[in-house]
Amino acid sequence: MSNLVPDMQADRIQDIDLELLWRRGIRGLVFDLDNTITPWHQYAPNNDIAGWFEMVKQAGFKACILSNSGQEKVAKISKWLDVPVLANSKKPRLSGFLRASELLELAPEQLAMIGDQIFTDVFGGNRAGLYTILTEKIADEEFWGTKNISRRLERVVKRHW
Ligand SMILES: [Mg+2]
Repeated sequence: MSNLVPDMQADRIQDIDLELLWRRGIRGLVFDLDNTITPWHQYAPNNDIAGWFEMVKQAGFKACILSNSGQEKVAKISKWLDVPVLANSKKPRLSGFLRASELLELAPEQLAMIGDQIFTDVFGGNRAGLYTILTEKIADEEFWGTKNISRRLERVVKRHW
């Protein structure tokens, strides 16, 4: 059960305390895409987000996106943010998190997984040994399975925190 509990929570990625992460030894940030960086399946550029990613890089963090969506869907945002994307990641399976660790050349304990879902981002991230940060979903619209199944289970899990 403890793998379902994030180490930190934030309303939006822009609210994450980067200094605190740095002091904890975190050097790489692994982001979920849908409903964490952009609304679900809406990969349009947004200056607030682009500016924040620029600041993250300036602060010295490495970053990548770990998404269960397909490559062609996420390629545009990778280019736009100048951040590499690992697509089709099959979170919460461990393989994606290990690919992120290899890509950023950092150990799992130097990485923070940032995402809006407990059963993929938090659960997988915790099992793989990453620091985990749960964000609020950006918009209500999402995959029907997420909306009708995962979110209900998330509400049950959160009652036990
Ligand atoms: Mg998501």
